[in-house]
Amino acid sequence: MSDALAAAQRELEELRLRLAEAQETIRAIQGGEIDALVISDAEDSEPPRVFTLDAADKPYRLLVDQMHHASAALTIDGVVLACNTQFTRLLRRERQTILGQPLQQHIDPPGLPVFEALLRDGLAALAESEVMLRRADGERLPIVLGVRALHEGVAGVCLLVVDLSEQKRRERLIADEATARAILEQVADAVVVCDNEGTVLRASRAAHDLCGTNPLFQRFERVFALSRHDAPGTRVDLDAVWRGEPLRGLEVSFDRPGGKRAELMLGAGPLVVAGGERLGVVITLTDITSLREAEDELRRRASELQAVDRRKDEFLAMLAHELRNPLSPIQSSLEIMNLQALDDPLANQCRDVIERQVQQLTRLVDDLLEVSRINTGKIQLQMERIDLGAAVLRGIETSRPAVDAKRHRLQFACPPEPVWVRADATRIAQVIGNLVNNAAKYTEIGGDIGVRLECEDGRAVVRVRDSGIGIPQEMLAEVFDLFTQVHRSLDRSQGGLGIGLALVKRLVTIHGGQVEAHSDGPGLGSEFVVRLPLWDGERVGPEAPRVDKAAAAGPSLRVLVIDDNRDAAELLAALLGMLGHKVQTAADGPSGIATALAFVPQLVLCDIGLPLLDGYGVVADLRARPEFAETRFVALTGYGRTEDRQRSQASGFHAHLIKPVGLAKLKTLLRPPQAGEFET
Ligand code: ADP
Repeated sequence: MSDALAAAQRELEELRLRLAEAQETIRAIQGGEIDALVISDAEDSEPPRVFTLDAADKPYRLLVDQMHHASAALTIDGVVLACNTQFTRLLRRERQTILGQPLQQHIDPPGLPVFEALLRDGLAALAESEVMLRRADGERLPIVLGVRALHEGVAGVCLLVVDLSEQKRRERLIADEATARAILEQVADAVVVCDNEGTVLRASRAAHDLCGTNPLFQRFERVFALSRHDAPGTRVDLDAVWRGEPLRGLEVSFDRPGGKRAELMLGAGPLVVAGGERLGVVITLTDITSLREAEDELRRRASELQAVDRRKDEFLAMLAHELRNPLSPIQSSLEIMNLQALDDPLANQCRDVIERQVQQLTRLVDDLLEVSRINTGKIQLQMERIDLGAAVLRGIETSRPAVDAKRHRLQFACPPEPVWVRADATRIAQVIGNLVNNAAKYTEIGGDIGVRLECEDGRAVVRVRDSGIGIPQEMLAEVFDLFTQVHRSLDRSQGGLGIGLALVKRLVTIHGGQVEAHSDGPGLGSEFVVRLPLWDGERVGPEAPRVDKAAAAGPSLRVLVIDDNRDAAELLAALLGMLGHKVQTAADGPSGIATALAFVPQLVLCDIGLPLLDGYGVVADLRARPEFAETRFVALTGYGRTEDRQRSQASGFHAHLIKPVGLAKLKTLLRPPQAGEFET
């Protein structure tokens, strides 16, 4: 019994020892003092098994190393103590170049303050922020850094890195898509995106509204049946567009479902993404209906204005004609009075006054006629080689009455040799006449007018200077505009219309020259400078024979005057009678023909606007008869437009003269006609 007790006590003792050993092991494990556990079974033949700590945390190490997110353990200064493989991939660096180095090296400088703050905050609690990481190859990568303190006595932080680039890309895509949607929703134009076959993939709100239906997944041409603006009814062919060719600014029409027609501007071009792939075609349709309506309205107004302008020209031509009619007999009367010496000095003076006023009136009427010619560009030049000095003198002479009337001193200077230019002598005389006339008009009585002709830099230059009222600086360019008058209120008695200088400019310009005005200011006189190209040596047409036409009056002639204005006809007849010619008159077309048949005149002076048969009819009738083969027919009319002259010539007249016809002109008509000549 005592043996059994002793054995039981030994066994109990052994169990106590094992328990103490097990408790010590657990304490050591719990105290972290165990590196490995060796487990063996004494009775077992199997070798003892060793459980090391390494084996215990290996799964965790593997877990950390292979997890999707990059992570690292840092000191509180940011030096990398450990990192997982994903972390090295993110930085595109070898692990050994990362470990032991501050992570700050790999952070984009603007993000450094954020990172430092993270390290600080992470010690207290989990902190997160976005920063930019710089990879080994320089690429920048957006990331979220999550930092929290490492526990268990390690002085450092644990870093969790989330690569944001994919998320950012998605965000961008979503934002892009939202923007695209907003654009399509709000853009004013109809924008339609089609695939390469012409099926609508996307369409703006305006495109929906335009076609009045949902165009998506339908053929573009079916929903938008467009026809060409320049060929109504012809469908717009978009085959080239589907092939990827761009199309810009094609004007098209579209009948909306409601029946209202829209005028559109079509633009199309391929939709190409980065990499060059053509995804489809973008078409824009801009509504230009109101633009076109405005254009049509403008066109309508312009044509209305043109019509009004034409009517104004016609009115001016008619007015000039009507004003010329009374002028003609007045001038004829004056000529007759001039042929008879008057004893009464007062009567003589009155006659001079009338003569000057008639000249003034004639000039005004001529200017009026020229306006319509200026406006229609119908001034035709008889260009020839002329001595500019002679033409300038002629111009001065036409203005002599105005100069003399105000007792101005006029000086003319020119080189001794001729100054040859290619020009229309009459028109140049008209230019100079207008300028000298203005100089006389706008200068106080007894002023000085100087006309100087010289050659400068290969051009002929005429300067017309006066000591008159001058022109303000700001008006110098404007005085050449039609109907511009600087001194409107000053001298209405001069009766100008503001046409003269516009005419001057137009005439000089069509001669290839320039004209400009100078003045030192009000009261300091003015100067007008005309520059014309010198004759370049090439001959243009025959030189006009220089004949003293007034001296070429021939012997007594039979003259028939046909004019329904009896005063004009009779005064002309009296004048011709005094010059020693036999004259008969008629007041309408048929009686003109009858008189001519009986009288067989050598010269017929015929008005155009005649009762019963007009002047064209009369001349056509008479010229068809052999007995009038030698007769000279002269149209005597108030209409001086180019087309009037052309019509006279075409109807068989030998000359076309504008009333009133002066004595000198009348005398030239009385010489024998010259073959092929047409006088105006
Ligand atoms: P008009 O003399 O019929 O008014 P013009 O076209 O010849 O028309 O001249 C336009 C304007 O230019 C005149 O009204 C006048 O105010 C100004 N002007 C023209 N010539 C002179 C000049 N020599 N001196 C001062 N002003 C002038």
